[in-house]
Amino acid sequence: MSVQRKQTDVAIIGAGFAGLGTGIELKNAGIRDFVIFEGEEGVGGSWRTNTYPGCACDVPSHLYSYSFEPNPNWPEAFSRQENIRQYIEHCADKYGMKPFIRFSTRVTDATFDETKGRWIITTSDGQITEARVLVPATGALSHPKYPDIKGISKFKGKAVHAARWDASIDLRGKKVAVIGSGGKSRSGRGRGQLQPPAGAAVGGDQPGAGRRRGRPDADEEDRDPSGLRRPPAGRQAAPAARPLSRLPRRADR
Ligand SMILES: Cc1cc2nc3c(=O)[nH]c(=O)nc-3n(C[C@H](O)[C@H](O)[C@H](O)COP(=O)(O)OP(=O)(O)OC[C@H]3O[C@@H](n4cnc5c(N)ncnc54)[C@H](O)[C@@H]3O)c2cc1C
Repeated sequence: MSVQRKQTDVAIIGAGFAGLGTGIELKNAGIRDFVIFEGEEGVGGSWRTNTYPGCACDVPSHLYSYSFEPNPNWPEAFSRQENIRQYIEHCADKYGMKPFIRFSTRVTDATFDETKGRWIITTSDGQITEARVLVPATGALSHPKYPDIKGISKFKGKAVHAARWDASIDLRGKKVAVIGSGGKSRSGRGRGQLQPPAGAAVGGDQPGAGRRRGRPDADEEDRDPSGLRRPPAGRQAAPAARPLSRLPRRADR
């Protein structure tokens, strides 16, 4: 039995910051013939799947937001995962993106047919979609990468990946080994890193690894002393005051 092919002008893979932003800009430009394929059940991408304790951004929230949707209500200068997830959810609702998204639908194959000049996209629900333009906005940090360590399958304790946190795990009184020395692993020393509760003994850390630019590390410095509810003009004023080499990265750039 042949599968009936759907047709669309633009196919976007992923409903994180990048995919949603693309969809919103297409709609703003009057283009409505597009679809967003999202493997998860909701929007947010890495800010939906990363829920470990202490998960937060390390770029000031006034900058780490869409240029067309400034948010004067960020609760902290470097907001936490749940606030960022809610912001993305708000944007998806406000700009009417959800009807364009096929949730729980993974793209399993995408091949460009040169004779037709179209992408042939296969999804996990068995459907095939043809598109003129394909926008892969699949990110990287929502996909857990498990370390290939000899004997790891025999480990008797609980093991959890930062991108698939198990909220039922109680770390109090436990010895915790962190594998990896990137940004998330500098346990408990700054915003955005895994912050186990008091009473957990954490090892495996490398001081200085994954050190961030553009954000203070101390919690008390994380609060914007001039007040967070400033109008969005603050988002332009902040980077201009810094040397170019220290400019924070922007999600919407
Ligand atoms: C804890 C943490 C802190 C971070 N802090 C910062 C920061 O301070 N500043 C900064 O600039 N960046 C930061 N990042 C990086 C962050 O991932 C990016 O800024 C941004 O959110 C990436 O958005 P994205 O849309 O490109 O990708 P993602 O958010 O990863 O979204 C990709 C989406 O594509 C979907 N997808 C992937 N493959 C498929 C497929 N085959 N079929 C269907 N759907 C698919 C995924 O399910 C996901 O929803 C941080 C990330 C984490 C995890």
